[in-house]
Amino acid sequence: MGRIRLPLLVGSSLLYVMLAAGTMWLLSDGRGVAPLWPANAVLLAILLQGPRPLWREAILVEVFGNLVASLLMRGAILTPMLFSVANLFEAAIAAIALRRVLSEGEVLGGPGNVGRFIIWAGLVAPLSSMGVGAAVAHWFIGQDLWISARTWFFSNALGLLVFTPFFSSLLAGEYNRLIREMSVSERMNAAAAMAIMTVAAVTVFFYAPRPVPGLLFAPLMLITFKQGRLGTQVAVMIVAVTGMIGAMSAASSFDIYGHTLEGRLHVMQLFLALMLLTTLPVAASLSARARLIEQLAESERRLRAREADLIRLAATDPMTGLLNRAALNERLAAIDDEVGMAIAVLDLDRFKQVNDRYGHDAGDRALMHFARLMATGIRQGDVAARSGGDEFMIYFPATSETDAWTVCKRLADTLSNQPVLLDGDQVLDLRMSCGVAEQRRGETLETVIKRADQALYAAKAAGRSRVLRAAA
Ligand code: GH3
Ligand code: MG
Repeated sequence: MGRIRLPLLVGSSLLYVMLAAGTMWLLSDGRGVAPLWPANAVLLAILLQGPRPLWREAILVEVFGNLVASLLMRGAILTPMLFSVANLFEAAIAAIALRRVLSEGEVLGGPGNVGRFIIWAGLVAPLSSMGVGAAVAHWFIGQDLWISARTWFFSNALGLLVFTPFFSSLLAGEYNRLIREMSVSERMNAAAAMAIMTVAAVTVFFYAPRPVPGLLFAPLMLITFKQGRLGTQVAVMIVAVTGMIGAMSAASSFDIYGHTLEGRLHVMQLFLALMLLTTLPVAASLSARARLIEQLAESERRLRAREADLIRLAATDPMTGLLNRAALNERLAAIDDEVGMAIAVLDLDRFKQVNDRYGHDAGDRALMHFARLMATGIRQGDVAARSGGDEFMIYFPATSETDAWTVCKRLADTLSNQPVLLDGDQVLDLRMSCGVAEQRRGETLETVIKRADQALYAAKAAGRSRVLRAAA
């Protein structure tokens, strides 16, 4: 068995005692089954948390919470304990089934989930516990068996349906997260929405001259659209609790449906069932849609990042990390007739011999070494590229031939002074030859490159290891 989580245990127990005692105080005339039983939703929420159901926690909360609440409110032990067994049984059935059938844990996580949630928590589980609950109410309290059974079923079904979504979100930390992420004005909006919901519910259930609970659908739907699933979960609790208290009091707008308490409570139960059957699927659909949109946005972000990676990869020489020839051409093609730019073409001297003498891997190391020196030796704005093999190019925007030559000469000196260090303390001396040309007025790019190439050729012919300016 896993470790007991103390904060969960204490928090849930307090919640359970408050709900159970509150329900007995507000919604029970002391004669039997309350018309709405939210406390079981705490158990179900505990059992739905985490990778495995927390049986020990749920049983402790149920037994302790029920005992304390019953002692506080009724001073009885035996009957509450028997009810407690039926409740635990009910929560267990709902939990075992829902843990299997819910995709992604959240009971209102989508229309599929909400249907399964209504079937198991709103139908099968309360029907399963109904026999024991009604029998206890009948034999120990002397209630009519049929009325007890009916009340028990609706009370527990509604209790689970109305409160489980909220408590599971609460235990999962969703409300914490939501409130933390909200801006001040969003918090004010949410609080105002709930206040309006409360005022509407109180008005409809306590003060309206006629029973017009249908009016509540307007704020409910507004909250569902504006505040999302987590908002709906709170709003249905507000309506359920206010409605039940209203139906308990003889002054309620529900009077018209019957003069007996049972009749009024039953009408209220039916109304709540109707409300849940319409509101929860809408909330779930919207929630699923919101998640889908989020997933789409996320995959779009990933695709864009990947696209940027691909563009970068296609433009880069994989070994040296410099631009490749095609990318440099593209860069140069984008320049419109910039007079004053210069091009240098660089080639390593006798590089074939390097490969022959030290091996191809050492040759690669030498190429990377040279690329690093190039990248650090040029100014910001200059563009270095590997045009192929051991040949490189540098584009110098807004630079005279003399200045470009100076940069290349310095690079050649650096290369001479910083040999490549190979494994086994071998030192590899590299030299480079280079031709530099600046663009003349009216000259095409191709011609500039061609003149730089010719200068390189001349440097090679003159004995290599030199940087030459293009002939006039
Ligand atoms: P030169 O001074 O006339 O330039 O003589 P060279 O030996 O450097 O001749 P050239 O520039 O024509 O030959 C370049 C050689 O660079 C040919 C090839 O063996 C080698 N090379 C080209 N690409 C790579 C590479 O990616 N890795 C390695 N290790 N060698 C390469
Ligand atoms: Mg070469």
